[in-house]
Amino acid sequence: MPKVAVLTIGTELLLGKVVDTNGAYLGEILSSAGFDVAIRVSVGDHLREIVSWIRSLLDDMDLVVTTGGLGPTKDDLTRQAVADAVGVPLVFSEALLKEIEEIFTSRRFHMTENNRRQAYLPDGALPISNPMGTAPAFLVQTAKGHEIVCLPGVPRELKFLMEKRVLPILKRDFGLEGYVKRTRVLKVCGLGESGVDQQIGDLMKTEGNPFVGVLASPGMIRVLITAEGETEGAVEAMIEEVEKEIRRRLGALIFGVDDETLEGKVVEAFLKRRKRLLVEDFATGGEIARRLLQAFNGTYRSETHIDFAGKETPHLRLRARPLPSGKNDSLPEYEISILPGNGGEEKVKRIRLGGNKRDVEIRLGIIAIDLLRKWL
Ligand code: ATP
Repeated sequence: MPKVAVLTIGTELLLGKVVDTNGAYLGEILSSAGFDVAIRVSVGDHLREIVSWIRSLLDDMDLVVTTGGLGPTKDDLTRQAVADAVGVPLVFSEALLKEIEEIFTSRRFHMTENNRRQAYLPDGALPISNPMGTAPAFLVQTAKGHEIVCLPGVPRELKFLMEKRVLPILKRDFGLEGYVKRTRVLKVCGLGESGVDQQIGDLMKTEGNPFVGVLASPGMIRVLITAEGETEGAVEAMIEEVEKEIRRRLGALIFGVDDETLEGKVVEAFLKRRKRLLVEDFATGGEIARRLLQAFNGTYRSETHIDFAGKETPHLRLRARPLPSGKNDSLPEYEISILPGNGGEEKVKRIRLGGNKRDVEIRLGIIAIDLLRKWL
């Protein structure tokens, strides 16, 4: 697998003013395309440091992908840094300047003198025009056959250029055109990380094909099945085989796949059955209603009682409340109950949860919604 380094450029990234979502995005898309994403570095707007990082990364990597620093201002140094790192001059391109001028004209913006900087690229670079912004991206091939791709920092522009322009070129250059990698996410609620490990630990591998991994977040576990191969069909078949086995073991604890959400599933079931729900929330700070209403595309208003569908008598009440504490040293106890309006059977779950308040609210909210899902 070709080895790639992601270099994100901008002092604001180091100071925590901007979260490096570009780095995460590039890591994901490049690894899905078949690259071995080996290292990610963030560097400030300092020419010497950018040059030295590009040089050292090029020693070990087949490809270096940078984002940021392509703007028109003096602290946008990526063009100069790449030129210095590979030992070529920056050259002015009349054609590129025309392209940039056209973008300004079409948007009726005034083009300033410093936008001319963006028409300079390292000698021999392949310009990649950027219809979403003014900063053109570019690709440089080094004498040793390594490549550097420089993309803008604005996430929208980065994504567009990466997906529409750059990835096809990289796949061709690195012989990855026949490579497919897919990940399916199975979402689990009602079992902790160690519980999941007990059930499917023997299937979990961090390497191999397919491989299975687990990611824990408050109230939910995600099981990731990743497979790679030469065709969609082959990869899909590999994933399905493992998925079948995981489903056999975890059953109804799996509430959804990929982008599906717990609350989305519950709202879907409610809409199908035309049920009405009343949420009585004394414990989650509105978490239950917020999640359900968000899934319902409603707007959350901070009220203790939220009538989920109009003023009529609810079919179902979902109640979350703290219970009086027992022994001083035990974790606080909570009760979640589902109370059907027609005198049907109540479902009650008691649970002890510790940790910071907000964390408890989120976990409790998720547990309550999951109880509702199981009831439905
Ligand atoms: P432009 O010419 O459009 O400004 P640029 O390549 O010069 O592009 P930067 O000036 O470095 O990009 O960044 C522009 C904006 O993009 C930043 O203000 C920031 O909001 C966002 N951005 C930059 N780098 C990142 C990153 N790594 N992750 C997320 N957002 C980023």
